[in-house]
Amino acid sequence: MSRPLRVLHVASECAPFAKTGGLGDVVGSLPAAQRAQGVDVRVVLPLYRGIDWNAQERLPYTLVVPMGGTTGYCAVRRGHMAHSDAPIYFLEHHRYYDRGGIYGDSRGEFGDNLERFAFLCRAAFALCRAEQFVPDILHAHDWQAALVPVYANTIEWGTEYHGCATVLTVHNLGYQGLFSPSSLPVTGLGREHLNDQEFEHFGALNLLKAGLHHADRISTVSPTYAREMQRPEHGAGLDGVIRARQGKLLGVLNGVDTVVWNPSTDPRIAARYDRDDLRGKAICKEALQRELGLPVRPEVPLYAVVSRLTEQKGLDVLLSILPTLLEWDLQLVVLGTGDPALERGFEIASRQRGDKVRAVLRFDDGMAHRIEAGADFFLMPSRYEPCGMNQMYSMRYGTIPIVHATGGLADTVWNYDERTGDGTGFVMEHLGPRALHDVLGWAQWAYFHRPEHIDRMRRRGMEQPFGWDRSAAMYLRLYHEAYQSRRGHPFFG
Ligand code: ADP
Repeated sequence: MSRPLRVLHVASECAPFAKTGGLGDVVGSLPAAQRAQGVDVRVVLPLYRGIDWNAQERLPYTLVVPMGGTTGYCAVRRGHMAHSDAPIYFLEHHRYYDRGGIYGDSRGEFGDNLERFAFLCRAAFALCRAEQFVPDILHAHDWQAALVPVYANTIEWGTEYHGCATVLTVHNLGYQGLFSPSSLPVTGLGREHLNDQEFEHFGALNLLKAGLHHADRISTVSPTYAREMQRPEHGAGLDGVIRARQGKLLGVLNGVDTVVWNPSTDPRIAARYDRDDLRGKAICKEALQRELGLPVRPEVPLYAVVSRLTEQKGLDVLLSILPTLLEWDLQLVVLGTGDPALERGFEIASRQRGDKVRAVLRFDDGMAHRIEAGADFFLMPSRYEPCGMNQMYSMRYGTIPIVHATGGLADTVWNYDERTGDGTGFVMEHLGPRALHDVLGWAQWAYFHRPEHIDRMRRRGMEQPFGWDRSAAMYLRLYHEAYQSRRGHPFFG
């Protein structure tokens, strides 16, 4: 009798339970697609504050988790993923996870993040033991889970978990989990691992680097980023490490959760619509202008940003040309939090030019949906973008993305051709104030002078197949490769 492939995802985010960005979206939606493919897929996540504890079933055991020099204990609650019966296990450790943020709070990053996420990784193995679940594949996401492939090769040497094949997905090379080398004992690993193949990196302890070294297969979230990350400009100091493992690396474009991001069923927006009938979109635009306190003008183009406000996202470039843009007939809404200088810049513009700009400085999932539905254009001038989710959400909502051709943005947005009206968005080959000014001018021109092209681009964007089917199939192939290389034979079930 054949059995399904068993997969455990280990991650620090999973929508809708805990999300700060695209990582949460992916871990929240890929497992449902894998379940539909017949995979026995499960997820383990810290039980953060804000997750509805009582809605999750408390399991009848306590995990005993060896930590460097001490022992940690945690209870486990089990629930299931949104729109799927795939189980999710929550690690209930109040001291680590019952806090006012996932990685930090208003005072900055938590000082014990190494301990908090080393615990997640070691507890993942303890959980498997308690559940008598031996995964064929351990799928770790980002630096927070990067110790999983390391432990499979070290601490689990000689146990049945040594046979688990490991896949590490890099959602953003800009976050590597850097700590002081003197904190290595927190991981439970000995000093022999502080070498330049594993953890040591320019004098720091680098968790992602060790994970990249130990994982059987590495993936990242778009084909273009898989190429870019091997070059110094986008390698964030790890390009050499990644080049060394080039043959084990695959770029798999993120899929979209087509249940959550669907304008024909979305309960968060003012009116539903689809590509055959866009009248609801005009209602959403009016409702958004009203909600934001902007003049209700159907004819003016409404540009939007929903983003973490960080250097990566290139919004400083937008801010630098804002005075010029505000001479044009347009409106702009920015929803985001992050860098205080950027927050201040958009806040000031919002106060001075309330007739054209609105900055909403918070994390607000419902508003992100209302913006996608109500806007005409969506701006992503990212310096680099491993995949990017919002350009795809925008297209699904008939909102035209304006992007820098990098990473997943280059893989998903097809540039406008003003002769034919082809394309799904506006693409800048290079990012700078001049280029951004010009591409926005081009979008303004098309909006006012080629409305039939704009209309066709909206509908074309709405037709793009951004669901998980193809990408989940690519992950499945990667899992089989990882299994074969770990075990020396194919998975027969
Ligand atoms: P990243 O992972 O680099 O932050 P992505 O484009 O991959 O960027 O994913 C961002 C996700 O986070 C999207 O789902 C986006 O809607 C969401 N998001 C970002 N900022 C906010 C915010 N202030 N309010 C609501 N959602 C946000």
